[in-house]
Amino acid sequence: MIELLNVTKKYPGLVAVDNLSFKVDEGEFCVLIGPSGCGKSTTLRMINRLVPTTSGSIFIEDRNIEESKPEELRRTIGYAIQSVGLFPHMTVSSNIAVVPDLLKWPDSRIDERVNELLDLFGLDPSEYRNKYPGQLSGGEAQRVGVARALAADPPILLMDEPFGAIDPITRETLQIEFARIQKELRKTIVFVTHDIDEAIRLATRIVILKDGRLVQHDTPENIMTRPADRFITEFIGTDRALKRLSRISVKEHIRTAPSVLENALIGDIPDQPHGERYIWVTSETGHLLGWLETSGLGVDDIPANIMTRLEPGSAAVMNDSTLKEALSKMVQQGIRSAPVVNSKGVLEGEIRLEDILEA
Ligand code: ADP
Ligand code: MG
Repeated sequence: MIELLNVTKKYPGLVAVDNLSFKVDEGEFCVLIGPSGCGKSTTLRMINRLVPTTSGSIFIEDRNIEESKPEELRRTIGYAIQSVGLFPHMTVSSNIAVVPDLLKWPDSRIDERVNELLDLFGLDPSEYRNKYPGQLSGGEAQRVGVARALAADPPILLMDEPFGAIDPITRETLQIEFARIQKELRKTIVFVTHDIDEAIRLATRIVILKDGRLVQHDTPENIMTRPADRFITEFIGTDRALKRLSRISVKEHIRTAPSVLENALIGDIPDQPHGERYIWVTSETGHLLGWLETSGLGVDDIPANIMTRLEPGSAAVMNDSTLKEALSKMVQQGIRSAPVVNSKGVLEGEIRLEDILEA
């Protein structure tokens, strides 16, 4: 369906894409992945001739793309990008209808198509047709962007980090939703991402790029189990470890936390059995209020007066979160242990960096 043959793209002083060859079969979901600047977007844009190649050839259904006019080519290739690129002054329905309009479809057919696509993406047409992009959430705008790319039912879809700019929860919803839609539509897709989880969730085949060169082209399973070289092991490895952490609950690694009541006398605090140099401060009701360094305190000090207060939710980890969430919180704040609280803010224990790293 799509074939790249020794494709190279040079910019002054830089080879952005270096002698790249791979094929995408009909109905395949091919994900291009690699670090920022490795040439993913450039590769995608050469396929629909938004960027000219320096050398090499690209074929779509055995026809060299140079033989088609760029505008014609782009009508058979849907293109969805991260920043969505919806026209702000046009309604959702006009945005989706851009290509069908160009193709001079009759109005009734366009109307039907817009409704069908909105339904497909779970957006009620009666509610969404006449909205403007400014009235949509990030996730809704992204759905409309992809719906627009699909409007004229092109056999090929190019997608450049289409879910990149949205929050992780919405992103995951969209991935699952899009995987379902693709099962139905069976488009031939080339999809760019730098997120290995996204690649593994969606791809039937993955192309890994580094410095404009292909490092491995294989199924997600083979890339996970038989990475071609160290670069790939490292590239998927850090992420794979994080993925494992995202399946482990904080509850499994919670420890008893050293704590003291806000109105206690410092002199009454027992020595910490493990020699910790800090202690969490709670209210009578067990709510986490802050923390104290235990060195250099006067015996008459009262925790409430000298503790470092914590904003609710800032450093504390919820008892129902995952080790991945705990880790990211600790890394952000530069702390080696974090208090764990329940939904009411009551201190339940603590989680330590060393326990997470061991997990
Ligand atoms: P990716 O999408 O993988 O992050 P790109 O394909 O956007 O990477 O870019 C690949 C390389 O080519 C980068 O080093 C980038 O700076 C460079 N590049 C991209 N477009 C241009 C351009 N129009 N002019 C000069 N250099 C460019
Ligand atoms: Mg890019």
